[in-house]
Amino acid sequence: MCVCVYSRFMNNRVPSHRRYQPTEYEHAANCATHALWIIPSILGSSILHLLSDDQWETISAWIYGFGLCGLFIVSTIFHTISWKKRHHRTMEHCLHMFDRMVIYFFIAASYAPWLNLRELGPWASHMRWVIWIMASVGTIYVFFFHERYKLVELACYVVMGFFPALVILSMTNRDGLIELLIGGVFYCLGMVFFKSDGRIPFAHAIWHLFVAIGAGVHYYAIWRYLYRPNEHMLEVKISK
Ligand SMILES: [Zn+2]
Repeated sequence: MCVCVYSRFMNNRVPSHRRYQPTEYEHAANCATHALWIIPSILGSSILHLLSDDQWETISAWIYGFGLCGLFIVSTIFHTISWKKRHHRTMEHCLHMFDRMVIYFFIAASYAPWLNLRELGPWASHMRWVIWIMASVGTIYVFFFHERYKLVELACYVVMGFFPALVILSMTNRDGLIELLIGGVFYCLGMVFFKSDGRIPFAHAIWHLFVAIGAGVHYYAIWRYLYRPNEHMLEVKISK
């Protein structure tokens, strides 16, 4: 009886070369935990767009907005299809690849406002384009080796997540660093659940929540330190 009730919330773990099959409850949770953030991410991106004062702020708001909304939208579509249309194996497989590719672009997009709007040293300014090369390499990797070497895939995300942060060493203005670090810690803690399907019930949905919290902290930092007009600036604008 106890095992029967428990099995509703979690299926057995599978070998590393196979994909874990969530229970009905887990499928629903996987969809809900990212669908919930689609509207807030569209609103949040629009706010940054409205607060933009110049061309670079506008471009960065677009890039970041696409990455943020794209992550939640693609993830929700993939999880819905893998729940309701699981017999469409090819479509599900393509969407799963797309879901993983979007993560690389999401990471690059999360760094974009910092790289584009903060003053950087000569070597660090190259990171503005290096992150997009990294995201493209990650995408190509997913295309050819999707799900084949899962630890390599995880390592790629960690490198992509932390390597661009080296530019901090060249930043004169380091406001927002604490928030960037806190967001990064949430992503890392979430990875424990990302790797725990079949060990912890709703592990993937919990991973989604950690991603949402990490993204929320990073959004707050971008809004506060890169877009929100400070009081001094407001005074200048009003006096004009
Ligand atoms: Zn997911």
